[in-house]
Amino acid sequence: IKEYGYQPCVNIGTSGHVDHGKTTLIEAITGVWTSAHSEELRRGITIKVGYADAAFYKCPKCPTPEAYGTQPKCNNCGGKSELQRVVSFVDSPGHESLMANMLSGAALMDGAILVVAANEKVPQPQTREHLLALSVLGIQQIVLVQNKADLAEYDEALDNYKQIKDFVKGSVAEKAPIIPVSAQHKLNIDALIEAIENNIKTPARTKNVEPIMHVLRSFDVNKPGTSIKQVKGGIIGGALVQGEFNVGDEIEVRPGLLDEKKGKYEPITSQISTLGTGAGLVDAVKPGGLVAIGTKLDPTFTKSDSLIGSLVGKPGMLPKAVEDITVETHLFDTAVGTAEMVKVEPIKVREPIRLNIGTAASVGTVTNVRDSKIEVKLKKPVCLMPKSRVALSRRIAERWRLIGSGIAV
Ligand code: GDP
Ligand code: MG
Repeated sequence: IKEYGYQPCVNIGTSGHVDHGKTTLIEAITGVWTSAHSEELRRGITIKVGYADAAFYKCPKCPTPEAYGTQPKCNNCGGKSELQRVVSFVDSPGHESLMANMLSGAALMDGAILVVAANEKVPQPQTREHLLALSVLGIQQIVLVQNKADLAEYDEALDNYKQIKDFVKGSVAEKAPIIPVSAQHKLNIDALIEAIENNIKTPARTKNVEPIMHVLRSFDVNKPGTSIKQVKGGIIGGALVQGEFNVGDEIEVRPGLLDEKKGKYEPITSQISTLGTGAGLVDAVKPGGLVAIGTKLDPTFTKSDSLIGSLVGKPGMLPKAVEDITVETHLFDTAVGTAEMVKVEPIKVREPIRLNIGTAASVGTVTNVRDSKIEVKLKKPVCLMPKSRVALSRRIAERWRLIGSGIAV
């Protein structure tokens, strides 16, 4: 806590089938409705990955889980609680067409909550898809939430619990606790906080390294018609994986933006004018939570998520952007996301494929296949960190379906 102030120290993602209550749950914990963007409200789903921070407190006098809460005052005895840590929630969309967004958000997760509705058969298609996505991306700290407990009779809830247990057997979530809650009625949230505190640890961060941030969003905050003098520079949102940024730092964004004349992506450079976290404006940011970098860039450069998937670092310090990449692949037996099981055929030369690397989603064509190694020519270059994890998707029945995982070599 001393080291972080109120910047969150850990990123926790939500995952699970559409309508199982992910956004309601985050709201119950943080008090923020993460899909409060007009476009998102209109479509009734969390289109872009939303985020919100919460501070976890524990009362030194009360028994657990009642001792846990999100306020400095104990819910149970009214006494003074102690701040444990500030966590950041990354909300994922569960809609099947938006798996690319889920994978981009998942790239920033240190741990995840997998939400399963207590009143439906387990697993629903995206429950299965999201659990596999978590394993593909190496997310091992998982808490299972049996939500909508208010809608299930006792026997039903017990049967649903057994179905969840069976479903996670042999997966990364096998040992994860299962916490029954009602997000809508804010029931058993203290037990969920306790499970998060015990199962999703703050990752150890390497010190004294060059800063690198994954871009998850970028936008223009100016209203149409703002006078030139008052225009605010472009904003870049994302999460640092290492190092620290300070106000005033020179930064570079790679691969950057497409230069239409050259037909090539060009890095862009700027200077940090402001830094924001869930706690407000700060002078410095480090890994943990989502941060917003205010830049001196022309806001048209950053509008509409133009920079999603890029990396931000100090000029000259980021890995080169590449278009040709080799991936050591591991394919699933069956594709996920579909209700019916579709067998995953081996990858073939010339087939289109989508790679999710970090927050980048890039479509490409397979140019070579040797055993489990494939070579892909990407339409949009990516900056590869060493040993980057890759999520592989293929077009099946008009949609991109997750078919396996890989490591960029
Ligand atoms: P998401 O798609 O997983 O983010 O689901 P939402 O959070 O948008 O919730 C979908 C619907 O389920 C909404 O109408 C919520 O009000 C409702 N819902 C969420 N949690 C609960 C719960 O614990 N009990 C009940 N009865 N309804 C819930
Ligand atoms: Mg939602």
